[in-house]
Amino acid sequence: MNNYVGRFAPSPTGPLHFGSLLAALASYLDARHHRGQWLVRIEDLDPPREDPTATDSILSILDTYGLHWDGDVVYQSQRSELYQAALEHLRDQGDAFPCACSRKQLAGQLHHGVCATPSNSDHAWRFLCPTGDITLTDGLQDDHCYNLADEIGDFVIRRRDSLWSYQLAVVVDDAAQNITHVVRGIDLIDSTVRQYLIQNALNLPVPAYSHFPVAVETNGQKLSKQNLALPLSAAHASDTLWQALQWLRQSPPDELRTEPVSKLLTWATEHWQIEALRGLRSLPAPAPFQRT
Ligand code: GLU
Repeated sequence: MNNYVGRFAPSPTGPLHFGSLLAALASYLDARHHRGQWLVRIEDLDPPREDPTATDSILSILDTYGLHWDGDVVYQSQRSELYQAALEHLRDQGDAFPCACSRKQLAGQLHHGVCATPSNSDHAWRFLCPTGDITLTDGLQDDHCYNLADEIGDFVIRRRDSLWSYQLAVVVDDAAQNITHVVRGIDLIDSTVRQYLIQNALNLPVPAYSHFPVAVETNGQKLSKQNLALPLSAAHASDTLWQALQWLRQSPPDELRTEPVSKLLTWATEHWQIEALRGLRSLPAPAPFQRT
């Protein structure tokens, strides 16, 4: 039996845009090409940054674009107990410690080593970063060697405002969902080393990571919700999907451009060549999806 399990894990901070469609599509095609499962996880851990209509609109666009997921959608907001258990485990092993250092105290420096025990509950929890070097491999990008003390330091896994950090939650959920392959944008590549450190400390399996290029505007800015990237519309799904396949360097045949999305996806699943993206770090978004 094939054990490939991939996933798309959007944060519901706004509607899907061309950049997030690429993350959905690349992870979907890689999973389906390997006859694997493809899961969707909504990373709703930061209510102040969220848009209450985003989850519905993301799921509805995925559906319209034919990107059908396996099983039930998982919501991180319902999984605090799992994150709490992981934090306690790390704490009991001496891999996590409470920290009340303010941004001002850190003055832009990395945090190194257990600090004075906070006197009350107004503190964050940090992962105690080991020292030494770690080299990470990637399915698409060159190996990268990190000096942990110089580049990573002790990072926050539970925020002072009690919100769970992305790094801890993503590790716990990727393991709980048996994710074997993570295909995501290169903007997240430096998170991988933090996730790897937590996986190691919790004795969890490490998925295979492939980081593909980000879509940028003409001015070089990443297409993102923060930069007000244009929301995808439910109309013209085939044309948009075709442009996304073209962007992913899959060379879809012209005649598919007006076919139903299911036909495009069948073609793309069969012909998927992740190799076409090797070593690329950014590519301009097609003109209709740029604001400028
Ligand atoms: N939730 C993250 C985001 O929307 C992605 C997480 C991941 O793919 O690891 O940027």
